[in-house]
Amino acid sequence: MENCIFCKIVSGEIPSDFVYEDDLMVAFNDLNPQAPTHVLFVPKKHIDSLDTASDEDFEAFGKIFKAIGEYAKKEGFSEDGYRIVNNVNKMGGQDVYHIHFHLIAGRQMQWPPG
Ligand code: AMP
Ligand code: ZN
Repeated sequence: MENCIFCKIVSGEIPSDFVYEDDLMVAFNDLNPQAPTHVLFVPKKHIDSLDTASDEDFEAFGKIFKAIGEYAKKEGFSEDGYRIVNNVNKMGGQDVYHIHFHLIAGRQMQWPPG
């Protein structure tokens, strides 16, 4: 997808240090971290948002959730806990329209999220 910043990161056009990669997704640190750990899990396929995802995409989302859980275990903060966030469209606070899942950890999360 032209002019999509996350597609450029996935393709390597914008250099990024991946903390995780497999055939379906990449994960990298958020540019503007909201917690000691703030990693974005991003499918390699361009999908605008959950709002436009097709049936076949949900298999990948399941695998992304699995990868996040495994990453949290590997990094040692799984038991303490963490938060997964997916912002959808304008009112959801979505800024980058290539679907991604925020993994946020390392501090006490609050509710409501704001
Ligand atoms: P959202 O508001 O859910 O669309 O989140 C977009 C996230 O992408 C924000 O947390 C930004 O800090 C982050 N972000 C934007 N550009 C980059 C980039 N080049 N590398 C890493 N994170 C980025
Ligand atoms: Zn994209």
